[in-house]
Amino acid sequence: MDCIFCAIAGNAIPATKVYEEDQILAFMDINPANPGHLLVIPKRHYRNIFDIDAETAGKIMQVGTQLASAIKTALNPDGLNLLQSSESAAFQTVFHFHLHLIPRWEDDTLVLPWKPQQGDINQIAEVADKIRQHIQ
Ligand code: AMP
Ligand code: ZN
Repeated sequence: MDCIFCAIAGNAIPATKVYEEDQILAFMDINPANPGHLLVIPKRHYRNIFDIDAETAGKIMQVGTQLASAIKTALNPDGLNLLQSSESAAFQTVFHFHLHLIPRWEDDTLVLPWKPQQGDINQIAEVADKIRQHIQ
């Protein structure tokens, strides 16, 4: 399989690693949105949130929490975004699950990718009902 993050996890190509354990790896994003932007991945290949199991995703979040704390101490950002994109429609470009940690500063140039606007309360309830019926 031709997957760049599998290649990084298998040490076939280099990356600026910041943390590694049995099943999880974290490394710096090569095109950082802000200084300190890093990615947490499972070493095993999962395409995205629709493919990964909850236990592995939980481990990634655990490491993400540890690294957020390290970023906070090291870089003193004003905030931090977690981002996980699944499928092209949601901005995914590398199809191996990854969690972005993006430190934020009040005066940085990043913007929210949607415009918050008042929703229709009935429509919101209808959609919630549809989702509720499929929780396993
Ligand atoms: P996404 O759009 O959520 O799929 O994000 C993919 C991310 O992977 C982007 O932010 C890229 O800059 C980053 N990326 C792609 N190739 C590499 C690489 N070889 N090393 C580090 N980061 C990478
Ligand atoms: Zn992969």
